[in-house]
Amino acid sequence: MLEVRNLEVVYDDVMLVLRGVSLRVPAGSIVALLGANGAGKTTLLRALSGLLDVHDGEVTKGSVLLDGEPVHGLRPAQIVRRGVSQVMEGRRIFAELTVEENLRVGAHTAARTLAENLDRVYGLFPLLKQRRANVSGYLSGGEQQMLAVGRALMSGPRYLLLDEPSLGLAPSLVGQVRDLVVEINRQGTTVLLVEQNAPMALSIAAHGYVMETGKIVMDRPAAELLADDDIKEFYLGLG
Ligand code: ATP
Repeated sequence: MLEVRNLEVVYDDVMLVLRGVSLRVPAGSIVALLGANGAGKTTLLRALSGLLDVHDGEVTKGSVLLDGEPVHGLRPAQIVRRGVSQVMEGRRIFAELTVEENLRVGAHTAARTLAENLDRVYGLFPLLKQRRANVSGYLSGGEQQMLAVGRALMSGPRYLLLDEPSLGLAPSLVGQVRDLVVEINRQGTTVLLVEQNAPMALSIAAHGYVMETGKIVMDRPAAELLADDDIKEFYLGLG
């Protein structure tokens, strides 16, 4: 279980962006984190993966627990080693490296596991296998997104944090992203899915959280969030 308890995060020593957020991602599940731009979703993911520091952010209250152990304050590489890996918004890949070089950069593991993880990623993304010797900068936007997800999977994470994987993709590709998240989860990886596309995220998640200005304002089973017209209209913009 990955758990956030009453977390408060401040940027630049003054700007309070998370105001006491609590959230639970049970092992084996898909959990959706929804909310408008600027609500604090990316900040929460940064807190989970140890990336606040590089953005001049700091946890000022509360805790992040992985299987009951505090992990806030650990460095990003230590958190990856404990099994939590993040796919950042905007497909941060190394454009000048080949597809396979990008995947190897994500590995952090011994050679034998590296080969296994590479097989798993190529199994999930046959297209990346076809293009493995190509320079990544020439891939399409959707392919670069796949590569970013593939790279995060190369560390063999137990928990995958996905920041808006469908952002900027053609509608026809959004369904592929959904199927992919389901398959990754089916293979045993727990997923925290940050999405603007609420219907897509809630259609595959067990539970959904909605954030607004640094707070969780809704915390319900995904099916209930989808079934409630008021919630759809006021919190998810689906009226
Ligand atoms: P988006 O979908 O636009 O990424 P979000 O819900 O992920 O939105 P965050 O990116 O976490 O929201 O941003 C929450 C607030 O924190 C915003 O007001 C944003 O301007 C501010 N913020 C984010 N990063 C920093 C930073 N490095 N320094 C100062 N303020 C920041």
